[in-house]
Amino acid sequence: MKKSLIETKEFYNRTIYIKRDDLLSKEFSGNKARKFHYFLENEFPNVKRVISYGSSQSNAMYSISVLAKLRGWRFDYYVKHLSSYLEENPHGNYKYALKNGMKIHVGQTVPTPTKSDLFLEEGGRQKEAEYGLKILAKEILEWKEEQGFKELNIFLPSGTGTTALFLQKAFCQFSPNCSVYTVPCVGDELYLKKQFLMLEEDERLHPKILIPTKKRHFGKLYRDSYKIWLELQDKMGIEFDLLYDPQGWITLLENPQIFEKPTLYIHQGGLIGNESMLARYKRKYSEDI
Ligand SMILES: *Cc1c(COP(=O)(O)O)cnc(C)c1O
Repeated sequence: MKKSLIETKEFYNRTIYIKRDDLLSKEFSGNKARKFHYFLENEFPNVKRVISYGSSQSNAMYSISVLAKLRGWRFDYYVKHLSSYLEENPHGNYKYALKNGMKIHVGQTVPTPTKSDLFLEEGGRQKEAEYGLKILAKEILEWKEEQGFKELNIFLPSGTGTTALFLQKAFCQFSPNCSVYTVPCVGDELYLKKQFLMLEEDERLHPKILIPTKKRHFGKLYRDSYKIWLELQDKMGIEFDLLYDPQGWITLLENPQIFEKPTLYIHQGGLIGNESMLARYKRKYSEDI
């Protein structure tokens, strides 16, 4: 995997650096590429199939389908439900994962993995993610040295929190003057804290959790989320993800103290998922924004 670039942008009169992990490669990009990097590069002589589970429009599901295709593995994915609309009109992550050869199983129990199976947790929450996230941390540190920054704040929105956690852990190891800030997008701060604890017991290695002033439910549509997404595109010329990034940017702007140090935002990809989110947003708000 080659390095991703870091761009300097302005947003609401603040200078912000953006790590463009959305541009890592055409198919395998974003934080899922970092989290699954280990499985792309190491030898798995016994593995013939990958098993995973989660939602039918998950970014992780799509990235695993790319991984399986690149490695020549079969991919069995388990969902609790599949809407008849999506089944009849495949789009977004679901459509492209099917194109990569994913086999979908609806309402069945996830099988117990055998020796020839690789089992991947929902959303890629697993210890092997540390491998790729250490590489990401090193890329950031190399850039920080080039810029001559003594300190750096890093911000990214969280789902399982795996990306934020392993980044903070790597910085604690290599450069303690880097702080990772994040905001929970899937559950609340207690949920996120629990996720961190599952991967790392030592709380000194945990990122700092910011609490958004407004409660938003994951996957639901909000007018202010769509508005800031349009503004980001308009002012920076960058397309962000519609599930996590609006909550990320709104919360970052609510915390101006972060900008007292140079601040880096990590673009975690997820743009294929925008196809389905954008269709829903346009139906709901296009006339009145
Ligand atoms: C998966 C994903 C996240 C959440 O990553 P975690 O490591 O689970 O916190 C954030 N943004 C995008 C675009 C994602 O695809």
